[in-house]
Amino acid sequence: MTVDAHKETMEFQAEVSQILNLVIRSLYSNKEIFLRELISNASDAAEKLRFEALTDDALYEDDPNLRIRISVDREKRTITVSDNGIGMSRQEVMENIGTIANSGTRRFLESLTGDQAQDSQIIGQFGVGFYSAFIVADRVTLTTRRAGLGPEHGVRWESTGEGAYTIETVEKAGRGTDVTLHLKEEEDEFLEPYRLRSIIGKFSDYVSIPVEMPKARPEAEEEKEESGETEWEQVNKGTALWMRNKSEISDDEYKEFYKSIAHDFEDPLTWIHNRVEGSNEYTSLLFIPGHAPFDLWDREQKHGVKLYVRRVFIMDEADKLMPHYLRFVKGVVDSDDLPLNVSRELLQHNRKIDSIRSANVKRVLGALEKLARDDAEKYQTFWKEFGNVMKEGPAEDFANREKIAGLLRFASTKSEGEAQTVSLDDYIERMHEKQEKIYYITADSHAAALHSPHLEVFRKKDVEVLLLSDRVDEWLVSHLTEYKGKHLQSVAKGQLDLTELEDKEAQEQLQQQAEEHKALLERIKETLGERVQEVRVSTRLTDSPACLVVGEYDMSPNLARVLKQMGQKAPETKPVLEINLTHPLVERLEAEQDETLFGDLAWILFDQAALAEGGQLDDPASFVRRLNKLVLNQPAPARRGGRKKGAAGKTAGRKKKKSTDEQVSSDSEGGNGGD
Ligand code: ADP
Ligand code: MG
Repeated sequence: MTVDAHKETMEFQAEVSQILNLVIRSLYSNKEIFLRELISNASDAAEKLRFEALTDDALYEDDPNLRIRISVDREKRTITVSDNGIGMSRQEVMENIGTIANSGTRRFLESLTGDQAQDSQIIGQFGVGFYSAFIVADRVTLTTRRAGLGPEHGVRWESTGEGAYTIETVEKAGRGTDVTLHLKEEEDEFLEPYRLRSIIGKFSDYVSIPVEMPKARPEAEEEKEESGETEWEQVNKGTALWMRNKSEISDDEYKEFYKSIAHDFEDPLTWIHNRVEGSNEYTSLLFIPGHAPFDLWDREQKHGVKLYVRRVFIMDEADKLMPHYLRFVKGVVDSDDLPLNVSRELLQHNRKIDSIRSANVKRVLGALEKLARDDAEKYQTFWKEFGNVMKEGPAEDFANREKIAGLLRFASTKSEGEAQTVSLDDYIERMHEKQEKIYYITADSHAAALHSPHLEVFRKKDVEVLLLSDRVDEWLVSHLTEYKGKHLQSVAKGQLDLTELEDKEAQEQLQQQAEEHKALLERIKETLGERVQEVRVSTRLTDSPACLVVGEYDMSPNLARVLKQMGQKAPETKPVLEINLTHPLVERLEAEQDETLFGDLAWILFDQAALAEGGQLDDPASFVRRLNKLVLNQPAPARRGGRKKGAAGKTAGRKKKKSTDEQVSSDSEGGNGGD
């Protein structure tokens, strides 16, 4: 048989060279992981073959015993990892080994810090895979043949890891892949079989395909070796850990298993191991990682919980066994009842899969509840890493909404700083006796939320407000409107109704004020025209002159901003301008006779209310012009303030003279502004 070698030299994709350099530099202190990665690829290839052979037996080519073999050639200073798995065609080699298809790669590269210790963590999560061979080798040769193709369709790929590789067609009798590492000068330690065995024990014990090495022999026999056939022995446990009895598995075994399936260096936070008997029998072993993977926010993230059917790997597509908001969960489900030749499409609408999935979701949520209860510190770690993902839950998983909501954590006016968070249960426990709602504010930063004018009255009345400043929070509150029978209420929406906390007198006072200042309200509305829906007396403010409020069912200005930033359309909502009658600026406005000056002031009031909640002005230049004009025209050294409070008495009528209004009124909140 002759083979047209058709040897080509190809360049690596730019990203590949970049990754290669990074991998070699950052992972040097963890260099032994190259073996884990190569064994993991070999095992994937074997599992792929087993899966494809379910529908095409011929792929086994009369060699159904899948295995991975690792051998050493001391003279040539090489290690070879061989598998008899699915193999690759020439096209597949070029696609899989010379390029990086993953769209998250660029983001991954950007996330690197230059700090070696930190980067090695990130790279570890990236699953460097095949390229890790170049940590210890200065030349790598991969020879492979796709199962089912003739021996003349072998492919040899070779590279020194420096920008280019060669690829040629060769003859290869057995199917599968041999990866040969030509070790660097200083890496002789890996020529010692005991060293390789110990690495396999550490990282690959639970690879379910046997990993074999030449049988160790007494020295005397070694001489005669060349004559005889190599005798192989299995060096990994090779059992499916999840099938063993819970009580016989140590914590360390669970942790090592996690690391090998998740390609992680760190321990998981917790795990859940279950065996379910009955009409739908399966075993599941699920892990909550201790940190987020690099591709947590990658829409195309594909690897999730692995599905096996009677120990045969079927697939690990991320969306099949876990909902999107639990995409960080790693692990294995092994079903006894699904048919082996189940197609991927069929799995989509399979009742058994659905019931496994929903039971597992409950288990994960239950484990998280337990973690929150028993180990606050670990839960804090979990929340820091995955909180924003969990917030997608109430929208995605209606049935478990309440359970998920109980797991959420928020910054609040009663917690210290952004890092300290409270749960909805904490909130409810602290609610005032007559308080009925859970109040929150959304803003685009913690500081903007914390300093929003909308919080003033809540501070005064000592009512806790949750401070939501993650992008996903808007999405969350639009789907989570109630928890344990308590309505979640934005403090920036609708007519603020704190009546339940109010005494009657204060309410009446407010009504009266609205009446008394009706003319002012109308005058402002006339000036602002179509920009506002209404101008009314505020029950929200104590220190600020004005704030903007949207209708109960309108989109919040923060959400509208987020949508616009993402290039999406947001409906124009007309806000209500609420004013604080006790504020000197408002008093000054009321006293203003000059129509132009009144107009300038009214617009400034409106614009600064928009600014105060993090909004952007339609016409910032005009705002600046008006402000400057006012500053310069200030006739008398008018009193500054807005913080002045104290003396009792109602806002006593209107003062006609500007800048001399000395009246100080009591706080105006109380009751609902006039309904
Ligand atoms: P990953 O395993 O995460 O996909 P790798 O860099 O480890 O990334 O491998 C890249 C790809 O190369 C694999 O997805 C697979 O398609 C192919 N590959 C690597 N090693 C083998 C092998 N031994 N047999 C068949 N295909 C392989
Ligand atoms: Mg891999």
